[in-house]
Amino acid sequence: MIKYVQDNLQLTLSEKQMLYKNGQIIFEKVKQDGGFIKVYCQKELPQYLIEDNWVDIYKTKIISYEYNQIVNALLIQKPHYCSSTEILDIWNLDSLVWRTSQVYIISVPCEMTEILTMNFTLQQIKQNHGMTKIEVESIIEENNKTIQEMQLSQLIEKIIEDQSSNKISYFTIINLHKKAKEIKHIKNFLPQSIRPQGNNDVLSYMRNEIPSINVPQFEIRYFNNWKSSPKDQICFTQINLNLGPDSCLWITIDKENITEIRQKLIQIEHIDILIEDKIWFKDADYFLLNNIPFRYFVQNKGDLVVLSPGTYSWQKCEGLSINCSWNQATLDENSLKTIIDQQKIFNQLNFISRIPFKNLILDVVIHENSLDQTLLNYLRSELQQFIFEENQNLQVLDQKNSPVFQEKRDKLFCTKCKRELFIYFYEEDQKCLCLICLKEQVNINNQNIKQKYRFQCLNFLIGSQLSCCNIEFCSNYTGKTKCTIKVDEQQNYKSKVNKKGFIKISSENNNGKNKILEPFTQNVMESSEDENPKRKNKKQDIYKGQQFLKQKKL
Ligand SMILES: [Zn+2]
Ligand SMILES: [Zn+2]
Repeated sequence: MIKYVQDNLQLTLSEKQMLYKNGQIIFEKVKQDGGFIKVYCQKELPQYLIEDNWVDIYKTKIISYEYNQIVNALLIQKPHYCSSTEILDIWNLDSLVWRTSQVYIISVPCEMTEILTMNFTLQQIKQNHGMTKIEVESIIEENNKTIQEMQLSQLIEKIIEDQSSNKISYFTIINLHKKAKEIKHIKNFLPQSIRPQGNNDVLSYMRNEIPSINVPQFEIRYFNNWKSSPKDQICFTQINLNLGPDSCLWITIDKENITEIRQKLIQIEHIDILIEDKIWFKDADYFLLNNIPFRYFVQNKGDLVVLSPGTYSWQKCEGLSINCSWNQATLDENSLKTIIDQQKIFNQLNFISRIPFKNLILDVVIHENSLDQTLLNYLRSELQQFIFEENQNLQVLDQKNSPVFQEKRDKLFCTKCKRELFIYFYEEDQKCLCLICLKEQVNINNQNIKQKYRFQCLNFLIGSQLSCCNIEFCSNYTGKTKCTIKVDEQQNYKSKVNKKGFIKISSENNNGKNKILEPFTQNVMESSEDENPKRKNKKQDIYKGQQFLKQKKL
């Protein structure tokens, strides 16, 4: 080793002395412990690397011998391992603003891990959810992937059977209700800011529940199973808890490196990681040898991984692991801009995301007045742009009358193409179509083109510097939000609109208390189909817009 390093790399006098003193011994120890990447990225460095500061010389010189070619180990970065003091400091903070690094690992202490994971042994899962129907992905050899439907108990039996031979890789998803006892149990072990759908989480403003996005989702992974970041989640803070029994390996790419790496992998591998997930996996060595900056770490049982917005990741379990994951978005510039930028990339890629982000940004603008003014103005200008695009799509259809207002704020997606519905939609035979799908429709019934928000009112709202809760716009949100309008008020509003044909807003009970809305109340929101169809007069609509502005100033 010493000869190789001396022949191939420039050494200072002190480096030469270190090498001759015990270079070979250090090299052997690192090799024995699994190689430099593994040794360096763990939570605590071994004493033999700390003494005499061996890390630097290993990173820049000795590592090249390990790989038998000149490599740059400065590309390897570690996650931030939270210390117990740090965890105590952040425990009661109610937003994720404490983060400064891209990747965090929070370890639940060993004694607590046993209590945390007690509901999550295979036996327990079989007992509680054995009858649940699931889709199982199994891989026997590479490229031989099958997807089968079965009961959860059948999968558990298959895993137990395979455990002595380790031949088949399994993967499945289990979706539980957000109030399931397993989810409640996990929440007790989490710092407040990490719990799903809490205060200061943008995703609390979602009107629908999407497992793995705003509701924790469980996964069973068995034997060499790996997965990459789902592409519509990269823009959020991704949170993943390992419930054991075995550990998972993680490789992550920082946000600022994604664009470059994406291009590089298109060149070397002809694979676009933002389009084709689940088809490409490489070990950490690959990234080092190809000069790609990355982080590597092992997530043990009881470890919580927190990835900042924009971080890309691959995870691999070698044995059996049960993981629970969900997302969050902080109310700050980085988070909100990452969401919007990501959606623009998706637009270019023609990828339809599961997140109704236009409605989400609108709800944030209505309720989060205390955000930085420049950021709010940026969000407002993005909303203006969405409105502009919607109106352009409407113009293409060349219809004489303006769309009928129909309160359908819970209708978020086109039935046909799954695109997000923002303002306009076409309603026919229980279907809601977007304007893009409507272009292909032969007979358009003008009466069926509707608007979820009166776009004139929407303009007033976005144009105003200080927006606040309004019955015209607020919805039923799934998490803890600043919205003060309650479901029954919205129902009252609807009945008033229905009977008299115009809105008469009574004084709102805006006592500033956050109202936590119960889940699955969508049926309350759906009962608006009997709205007076004659109410499509434009003047009246604008009049109503002014009414609500007056109301707001009270
Ligand atoms: Zn569509
Ligand atoms: Zn509100």
